[in-house]
Amino acid sequence: MRQIARVSFVCAGAACLGMIAIELAFEALVVGEARPRDTAWMQLAIKLSRGIGIDLFEIFPPWVNRSFDLSDATDAAQYFGLVCVVSLALAWSAAALILTMVSLVRGLTDGPRWLVVEDKAAVLVLSAFAWPGLSALFWLGARGYAKALHFALGGLLCLVIAALGVWLSARPAISDRWISRLGFANTTTISLALAAGLLGVVLAPEFRWSGVVSPDPDAPNVVLISIDTLRADHLGCYGYPRDTSPAIDRIAAEGVLFENAVSPTSWTLPSHMSMMTGLSPAQHRITNWGRRLDDDVVTLAEVARESGYATAGFVAGPFVEGTYGFSNGFDVYDDHSAMMPPPSHQGITSPLLFGLVDRYLGAWNSADRPVPFFIFLHLWDVHHNYQPPAPFDSMFGPVQEGVSHGKPDLLDKPEDAEELMKLYDGEIRYVDTYVERLFQRLEELGIADDTILAITADHGEEFLDHGRLTHRQQLYEESIRVPLIIRWPEKIPPGQVVAAQVRLQDIAPSLASMIAQSSAPEFGRRSDSGASVGVDLSPLILAGATEAEWEDITPRIAFGSLDHLDEKLAYARTNRFKLIRRVSPIEEVQLYDLWNDPDESTDLSGEMPDMVAQLSDELDHWQSRHNDQSEYFIETDVSEEHKANLRALGYIE
Ligand SMILES: [Zn+2]
Repeated sequence: MRQIARVSFVCAGAACLGMIAIELAFEALVVGEARPRDTAWMQLAIKLSRGIGIDLFEIFPPWVNRSFDLSDATDAAQYFGLVCVVSLALAWSAAALILTMVSLVRGLTDGPRWLVVEDKAAVLVLSAFAWPGLSALFWLGARGYAKALHFALGGLLCLVIAALGVWLSARPAISDRWISRLGFANTTTISLALAAGLLGVVLAPEFRWSGVVSPDPDAPNVVLISIDTLRADHLGCYGYPRDTSPAIDRIAAEGVLFENAVSPTSWTLPSHMSMMTGLSPAQHRITNWGRRLDDDVVTLAEVARESGYATAGFVAGPFVEGTYGFSNGFDVYDDHSAMMPPPSHQGITSPLLFGLVDRYLGAWNSADRPVPFFIFLHLWDVHHNYQPPAPFDSMFGPVQEGVSHGKPDLLDKPEDAEELMKLYDGEIRYVDTYVERLFQRLEELGIADDTILAITADHGEEFLDHGRLTHRQQLYEESIRVPLIIRWPEKIPPGQVVAAQVRLQDIAPSLASMIAQSSAPEFGRRSDSGASVGVDLSPLILAGATEAEWEDITPRIAFGSLDHLDEKLAYARTNRFKLIRRVSPIEEVQLYDLWNDPDESTDLSGEMPDMVAQLSDELDHWQSRHNDQSEYFIETDVSEEHKANLRALGYIE
């Protein structure tokens, strides 16, 4: 038994260190950055702990979510140490657990021949279990890099170690000698790794506060809040009769509100990518889960970091996970709540997200506010299922029995949409309280007025307005018109209401310009400048411009598209007219006068052929312009776990 124990621990340690070496080399050479939480053992531990209802993220210090820059020697050393200490602790715990089980089984059975087989089997099982490659698969799969290569390397390493283990355990004379040597080497390596790890733990700061350059001393902090699935017309400040948004309304009154902000599509992944890159989905084309933003494409977080900001993202939905490239440029990108069981939209996530931001702000304050911060906060509770906690579940009237679960797919009659909407509105009010709490936190810190607070959404939501429910279905106003509010009392004149049409992809250049005050940052690919991106609205926002000035710089026509299952459609929208063209499953064109028919109930395409022709031409032109675009994404394959999560949310079949 002692023999098995020694072989087992040697195997577990060797496999673990081997995989760490492979992962580290891969990250350093290919990715350039790494988060401890993305490593194989950490992922496995997170998975196992969730299986028994523990959220390790509550226990782990924030550095597990920090991005370590592997081209920086100090960062790389800290990262290596941290990963070693956690991985070995987990690998050895697993080894100890298996040995305990084997010894229990042995205590219950007898028979020398069986025992010999059992010894070999135990070593084999242990080696396999010690194979962090099994779970490393999830990591590299999620990052989308060379899954097959990593699988092969991990498998090979595992086989070699298992074979060695079996061979040694059957040869007591050789193994005694070699195991003592191997054990010595193993123990030495492990001791060194543990020491490095402990040093890493001691030295690694919770968060990274030093930017790439020294920031402008007057640089404002920035908080960008995206409230997933929030249609503009359900907020008080956009004229909604129900009191869904007192905090957001007050923030809007103290800043600038865009009445006609539109999303280029009606679902989470491409919309957020546009928000972060200034590119339209027709350009970045990250429109399904098999694509990841190319690292060469500039993101808002990268502009902030390069301007000396500390950058942090806290997100709650699977289509905003770092794996799509959203984490690019963020020192901390915490998307763990996007992977929570039950699927995050069935739980309540705002308190968790607020807690993470609160912790971050607290750490920033304790570190004597070394640099300004850029925080991206993605709030998810408004997204279906609509399950606001009490008292928000009945705040807008009692909801009929049967729809109280808030699942749109279980709706059986049209009137139930009204009931669902009460719950949806309750969710908005609920999230509004967290916007208020965040605002209060900024006030407590005395930074509310020199922080740019931007509030928007990725798309809206349908409640049978045009025969469908939820989103990623159509491109009517309820799906694409989103709130956009920016408050910065030090620079932005309060009470501005802008009627000119703006787009989600205008947010990145506008905020970037306010962040990098001295130089206008460029978006698109670094290697080929000049990509057409969103408009920098900041000069007019800061000046409090007239409507005519706004009309001058904002896009006269906004374009968008949706390609999902059978649905293939696109829109061209001026501030007054909107053309929606469907090419699948049927071909049709619709035209609406948004001034006189904001609900898009009367199709004017028959009455206004000239307008149809003009907008169709523009739409054709826009679509053909993007046909020869350079590639902004790389093909990837996401992890099985991520796919399972998307499946649970009903996003993929
Ligand atoms: Zn969304």
